[in-house]
Amino acid sequence: MKKKLIVGNWKMNGSLAANAALLQALKAGWPRGRGTAAVAVAVPSAYLAQAQAELAGSDIGVAAQDVSQHEVGAYTGELSAAMLQDFGVRFALVGHSERRQYHGETDAVVAMKAQAALAKGVTPIVCVGETLAEREAGQTEQVVKRQLAAVIHQVGPCVSELVVAYEPVWAIGTGKTATPEQAQAVHAVLRAQLAAASAKADGIALLYGGSMNAGNAEQLLAQADIDGGLVGGASLKAADFLTIIAAAR
Ligand code: PEP
Repeated sequence: MKKKLIVGNWKMNGSLAANAALLQALKAGWPRGRGTAAVAVAVPSAYLAQAQAELAGSDIGVAAQDVSQHEVGAYTGELSAAMLQDFGVRFALVGHSERRQYHGETDAVVAMKAQAALAKGVTPIVCVGETLAEREAGQTEQVVKRQLAAVIHQVGPCVSELVVAYEPVWAIGTGKTATPEQAQAVHAVLRAQLAAASAKADGIALLYGGSMNAGNAEQLLAQADIDGGLVGGASLKAADFLTIIAAAR
């Protein structure tokens, strides 16, 4: 069976003291033994060095919440893929709905970010998902396929190196989770789209994100095409995040 992948997205939360306490609690409660899921935490960029130091030698990887589509140069405030590589960052979220919504990131920009990450050996976690209005208008499939198609087109044969996260926008931070059936239905659509682009699509991790928590993770993670989770709020509480990790065995 494929190893599941659980990624915590801390968003713009934390402090040196709070991060140290959270990471130490995760390490202390780490489940040992066969079948443990792969785990990473996407920390604010200011804390990448702290997370790298705290997690050195542990089984928890460091992820970034974003990456620039540019290689180097006059892009104030941006973080390049080479910089992430410098810090041993394994994953970078790209196209999170909060980046699309508040920073105007288009499908084309998201696709370039995915490509920039791959070029430096950082695995992009490509986030796709529909808004409530789009779901109610029956456009879910069309929207997620359009978002993913832009990335598939950009990265060509590297598509098998992606991680994809389905995150319905209406479920993020709202406490409204997609039902396991709703999530699985979209995951199946994404898997088929990936299969049309790559013979290795079965090996691509498809994560669900959107109010995943200690109570609903097991059912969501039991779905055939749900290979893991992208977890926001619940990743800030060690006990909850550890319960989700345990559910992903
Ligand atoms: C997210 O930020 O990607 C997310 C899924 O958040 P939450 O789990 O809080 O809905």
